[in-house]
Amino acid sequence: MYETVIGLEVHVELKTEGKLFCKCQNRFGDPLNTNCCEICTGLPGAIPVFNEECLIPAVKTGLILNCEISEKTRFDRKNYFYPDLPKGYQISQLYEPFAINGHIDLPVSGKTIRIREVHMEDDAAKLMYENGRTVVDYNRCGVPLVEIVTMPDFRTAEEVTEFMEILRKDLRAAGVTDGRLEQGSMRADINLSVRKEGESLGTRTETKNMASFKAIAKAIEEESKRQILLLEKGGRISQQTMRFDEETSRIEVMRTKENSDDYKYFPDPDLPYITISEEFSRKIRDMIPELPSRKEKRFMEDFGLRDEDSRVICRSDDVADVFEKAAKISGLNDVVASLLLTHIAASEELPTPEALSKTAVLLHSGKISAGMARTLLSDVAVSGEDPDEYVENRGFVRITDDGLIADAVDKVLSDSGNAKAVSDFKSGKDKVLGFLVGKVMRELKGKGDAEKVRSILLNKLVGDIDG
Ligand SMILES: [Zn+2]
Repeated sequence: MYETVIGLEVHVELKTEGKLFCKCQNRFGDPLNTNCCEICTGLPGAIPVFNEECLIPAVKTGLILNCEISEKTRFDRKNYFYPDLPKGYQISQLYEPFAINGHIDLPVSGKTIRIREVHMEDDAAKLMYENGRTVVDYNRCGVPLVEIVTMPDFRTAEEVTEFMEILRKDLRAAGVTDGRLEQGSMRADINLSVRKEGESLGTRTETKNMASFKAIAKAIEEESKRQILLLEKGGRISQQTMRFDEETSRIEVMRTKENSDDYKYFPDPDLPYITISEEFSRKIRDMIPELPSRKEKRFMEDFGLRDEDSRVICRSDDVADVFEKAAKISGLNDVVASLLLTHIAASEELPTPEALSKTAVLLHSGKISAGMARTLLSDVAVSGEDPDEYVENRGFVRITDDGLIADAVDKVLSDSGNAKAVSDFKSGKDKVLGFLVGKVMRELKGKGDAEKVRSILLNKLVGDIDG
């Protein structure tokens, strides 16, 4: 039995005004090569200057991942040539990254993923291939990135997906990144090896630049299959960089893997040490709102929500806010949650916390039915009307009076249009009962007590058979 061992390197584009070492606009979608200067395109004599605003989202990332923030940090040059890198080197942090030793908890799989480090680096240009030509857009050159490096703690694609989803949600909520995977603002490299249980780590391959959760999961599946097959045939895994083709789901060798030695890293002589004081980190910590992942956990603990419900409610700050307030006002956590979940599945307009809590009370006291509560809530979410007044003004109260319900039942049963359903029921087709209940409910304008309608209807039908 083989085990798959996975570590991730996640690149996240930081949401800032300027680039990492110049004041050019950091903006996606502008015309080609309009946000460039001598620094980000590496012209001779240009000296990079660290853009301090980048430190805010970077340190936020470190704190969100529960890292220790280094008091002193600096940049190193990673040297290689490629058309997307006009300087001839990337500015990264190999020796003294700004954040180390973090972790993140995955509630669904119950695992803790250790974070080895987070470092800053500048992005390369974007290469686009069209009609046999290559177009280079240097707008992306110098865009600030953080690279999050995990320990090889993942064993399945599900764990990786859970991690990526939490990461994206939390970083977006903290304003670190816009997290648009389709625009490449979060990209993951997958380091993967397989081993028989109990054995030491196997040789790993790296699959680069995965930009969708689906592709990441598929690439993990394909690459572990490929490695296991190769080992089973007596082959050996070599340290390679792989390319995953999303359209064909095929994985193939891109190049034989280079070591960090090949890049001749050295500290960048143009850039001095950066000091990150404890006070600065504390200020940044205060800027981070309650993260969606923490809120989800708190709602489960404080309000007894199921994890799936908590996740849906916390997907939007506004929804979470309405839930929390309404639950606190009414004390009816379950009723509030189920009303709100049904409501947001069907409607864009959110009710106020007061309206939601009053509706929950009306439903819980039996004054209105669940169906009526749905109607009421979607009406008052739009009109802003008070639920109590809504009920008062429309006589919108559940009908529980046996006599009234019996009258409606009689009317439905004596309607010649329903004669076939009635005779079907008597010949044993139980299914038509639902149809007849629906007819009675319509007769009662949706306000009948469903349980009572059902039992009175059944009594009359069965009574007819007996008679
Ligand atoms: Zn520039």
